[in-house]
Amino acid sequence: MYDYDLLVVGSANADLVIGVERRPGAGETVLGSDLAVHPGGKGANQAVAAARLGSRTALLARVGDDAYGRLLLDSQREAGVDTVGVLVGGAPTGVALITVDPSGDNSIVVSPGANGRLAPADVRAAACLFQAARVVSTQLEIPLDSVVEVVRGLTPDSRFVLNPSPPQPLPPEVLAACDPLIVNEHEAKVILGDACVSERPEDWASLLLAKGPRSVVVTLGAEGALVADADGVARVSSVKVDAVDTTGAGDAFTAALAFRLGAGASLAEAAAYAARVGAAAVTKQGAQESFPTAEEVDAL
Ligand code: ATP
Repeated sequence: MYDYDLLVVGSANADLVIGVERRPGAGETVLGSDLAVHPGGKGANQAVAAARLGSRTALLARVGDDAYGRLLLDSQREAGVDTVGVLVGGAPTGVALITVDPSGDNSIVVSPGANGRLAPADVRAAACLFQAARVVSTQLEIPLDSVVEVVRGLTPDSRFVLNPSPPQPLPPEVLAACDPLIVNEHEAKVILGDACVSERPEDWASLLLAKGPRSVVVTLGAEGALVADADGVARVSSVKVDAVDTTGAGDAFTAALAFRLGAGASLAEAAAYAARVGAAAVTKQGAQESFPTAEEVDAL
């Protein structure tokens, strides 16, 4: 019996958002709206998304001993995430400084802060969380050495889900553990590099699978997703909704997929559920604020 359906190892950021008429150029100062502060970071987002669906979820992350760190801890606890694995201190909480213009285009500066200090030793020290989790998921907003350590910390029975965002080339040891590797178009192209010899998502899925993962999921926004494993490549239909804000759709999808896999669903079943969760998330503004409950997904 596992204590957690899902252990998320990843980043936690405060997103500091200012609306501007026009994003500033070099040396320029512009006035903007009141500051809005939102809990974010891919690890924190995915943990909240899973917990909201009913997953018993733990987060392994690092935040600073500061007000943003407390904001992040509070938002995790409010969603029902176990924060026993959230380390505090070592650097200021990670921050994303975001300016958004009226057309929705943004400029973002990220200070990884404490996320960059989530060290391999921190991952090793959390061995009891790994033993207690059915599925372990991570992203690339923490040091790659720590992601490698996550793979080494997996128990023989646990399943590893990786969303390689922001993308970078991955060591074979990490690729081989993914079941699945979840990518969007941009991530697929970066991970494939020179091997990306096609513009067809079906080909990206097959080419990625050939790099070692046990399975691959390619998300295609409003077009749904593709799943690929030893049985071949299959399409997952999207759910038609009126999209308001796509921020966080990928995080909602990944969290839902990891949770359903842990509950024993097949990859295709889990991806179909995740597509509903991603669709529900785009019908509301924001990231964590937009993640649906299981009842909201059923009602879609
Ligand atoms: P982001 O980086 O914006 O969080 P992403 O690029 O990682 O997202 P997407 O492919 O945009 O991920 O979205 C993930 C999933 O959410 C899609 O596979 C799809 O199932 C669902 N989804 C996203 N956008 C829409 C939409 N407009 N309508 C319906 N479903 C959507």
